[in-house]
Amino acid sequence: MKTTPFWPDDFPRPADLPVAEALPETVDVAVVGGGYTGLSAARTLARHGASVAVLEQHTIGWGASSRNGGITGCGLKQGMPTIFKRYGEERARVFWQTSLDALDLIKELVNAEGVDCDWHQGGDLSVAYKPSHFEAMKARVTWHRKMLGHELVLVPPGELQQEIGSPAYYGGVIDPHGAGLHPAKLVFGLARVAARYGAQLCENTPVHRIERTSSGYRLTTGRGVVLAKEVVLATNGYTGRLAPALRRLVIPAGSYSIVTEPLPVEVQHRISPKGRVFWDSKWFLNYFRLTPDGRLLWGGRNDLSTTLDLHASARILHRQMLRAFPYLEGYAVTHTWTGQLGIPFDLMPKVGRLENGVHYAVGFGGHGLHMALYTGREIARLLLGQISTSPFLEIPQRRYFFYRYKPWFMPLVASYYRLRDALS
Ligand SMILES: Cc1cc2nc3c(=O)[nH]c(=O)nc-3n(C[C@H](O)[C@H](O)[C@H](O)COP(=O)(O)OP(=O)(O)OC[C@H]3O[C@@H](n4cnc5c(N)ncnc54)[C@H](O)[C@@H]3O)c2cc1C
Repeated sequence: MKTTPFWPDDFPRPADLPVAEALPETVDVAVVGGGYTGLSAARTLARHGASVAVLEQHTIGWGASSRNGGITGCGLKQGMPTIFKRYGEERARVFWQTSLDALDLIKELVNAEGVDCDWHQGGDLSVAYKPSHFEAMKARVTWHRKMLGHELVLVPPGELQQEIGSPAYYGGVIDPHGAGLHPAKLVFGLARVAARYGAQLCENTPVHRIERTSSGYRLTTGRGVVLAKEVVLATNGYTGRLAPALRRLVIPAGSYSIVTEPLPVEVQHRISPKGRVFWDSKWFLNYFRLTPDGRLLWGGRNDLSTTLDLHASARILHRQMLRAFPYLEGYAVTHTWTGQLGIPFDLMPKVGRLENGVHYAVGFGGHGLHMALYTGREIARLLLGQISTSPFLEIPQRRYFFYRYKPWFMPLVASYYRLRDALS
């Protein structure tokens, strides 16, 4: 069993990815972080004539953008009913629309920019882990129809076998917008597009310090100095000491995954007869799907730590997987890996500027595929003056006195989640 992510093993970083040989001395915009957010910002900026360098401490796509489940759909990490209550109906509708626009952005990358990432919009099925969860799903379907005109399809327990070959669940809800894709193909494809528009991709370039100058910023990196008029931080779950103020907005949390060996076609069909992607209704949820080459990817956590042993996490995930699909006993697990999410306290993406004027887009929770791409573009549009504000700029972004650098409270949060899962 390999302890490295499956996706870049299946589709390695292309040897001919057009990365910059030398670090540029000056650029209009320096983007720190070479994942979906940074590359999406770079694509839009470069397309509109700005000179851009993407500074990535490892290789392009090294972070969550090549480690995720590749499952996407509409909505944000925070549930829409809470968003309606918290921000009011008018603004909540705008947030909902951003998530639909974000999905359209993926389609634009696929269709207009030619990013081949095994995009398949076969719908997602969220499955009830307990009977009480199915009752909540009924209310969710009614709420979405009434408040958003968004049609979800309720699947009663008796009909569930037509959607998923598992005895473990008590009904579910289908969102036809749900989709699956190949995360590594997306991130490398997006990098190519950004480079095609002129963005300079600088790998192995950790940014150690950002200082304000009279005309912009001086970035000290592991490969030298870059001067930039503007800086975008797109470091999400890997935000470190470079920007402590940003780190206080977004808590790094670990998510863990395994994949099986490729499964026989009839087993694949049994698991997902209609080509859907899945997650369950627990607080510590599991997400799962077939990969394009017919393996089962099973992800989740029962801890929020970023440092679980990968063999231990594989054992936990494998047990959970066999509970859902007992007939997968005997199929080998080939990869176990982890990656870091950025989780904001209020579960809303964070777009804004730090006190020193540096821009940022972080904090997507497990909804980072579409929202990272979207907020990256949003930051670029703000910088280009194409828009003067963003809905994500207009909501409070609170920092809390009890969180400076170490998220010491995460074990308590994890215990709370476990309790909620036990009691619900
Ligand atoms: C295991 C896992 C499963 C997930 N599953 C899903 C899913 O199914 N669906 C979904 O929508 N979302 C999912 N997510 C979330 C999603 O992957 C992320 O929200 C998204 O990839 C964030 O993109 P990003 O570009 O903001 O961050 P990242 O891709 O993490 O990129 C940040 C980059 O910043 C770089 N960096 C940090 N500091 C510096 C520095 N000082 N100098 C230079 N570079 C720096 C890092 O090396 C990293 O490459 C998952 C995440 C994980 C970890």
